Amino acid sequence: MRIVLLGAPGSGKGTQAERLQAKHGMPQVSTGDLLRAAVAEQTPLGLEAKAAMDAGELVSNEIVLAMIRERLGQPDAAGGYILDGFPRNLEQAKALGLLLDELDQTLDAVVLLHVDFDILMKRLTGRRTCSKTGKLLNIYFSSQEEIDACTEAGGELLQRDDDNEETIRHRLEVYDRQTAPLIDHYRETGLLRVVEAQSSMDEVYARLLEVLD
Ligand code: AMP
Repeated sequence: MRIVLLGAPGSGKGTQAERLQAKHGMPQVSTGDLLRAAVAEQTPLGLEAKAAMDAGELVSNEIVLAMIRERLGQPDAAGGYILDGFPRNLEQAKALGLLLDELDQTLDAVVLLHVDFDILMKRLTGRRTCSKTGKLLNIYFSSQEEIDACTEAGGELLQRDDDNEETIRHRLEVYDRQTAPLIDHYRETGLLRVVEAQSSMDEVYARLLEVLD
């Protein structure tokens, strides 16, 4: 299957994509992860992307599209993939359409994970990653045991550079202005499925499987 996960920052795209990947073996293709890897490796592309990411702006379409083209051409993507965080504006959606035509592929579904603004703010401002295990945690929602499991193993709770309140507000504005128009775009193609994504990860995952069935 070829799936696009659409949704605001903090809607759980990454978490759900990871589960789909583990269960169905389709690779999760996250442009955010690809960009963060390029930043960490300090590639020229990463250095160029970093300023936009830190400011909560979108990285240029040129950089992101080159990355996606390269990633979708890799052998593990031949049997399907989950796009997480791409496309993020209409130009990227149109470029994706052209790339898929070129590869003689079609999308099976575009799933919107819907979460209200207040919850998104808490999810994003509270989001942490355990430096030891890589596990995603949240200071508001994770249990004390989960947090202790990280710190007692010698891990630290790390916050993403762009997860501070000011940048988060800006990222959510960018989502409303540039990414949300994709909802109508994909509704018109008949591919859109909407999943209410405010409940637990397990419930959301069950709903996701239902709409993909
Ligand atoms: P994410 O991990 O998906 O929240 O992405 C983190 C940051 O990476 C975003 O705030 C953007 O700066 C950048 N980014 C990720 N995906 C894209 C994309 N498709 N187009 C432009 N910028 C992106």
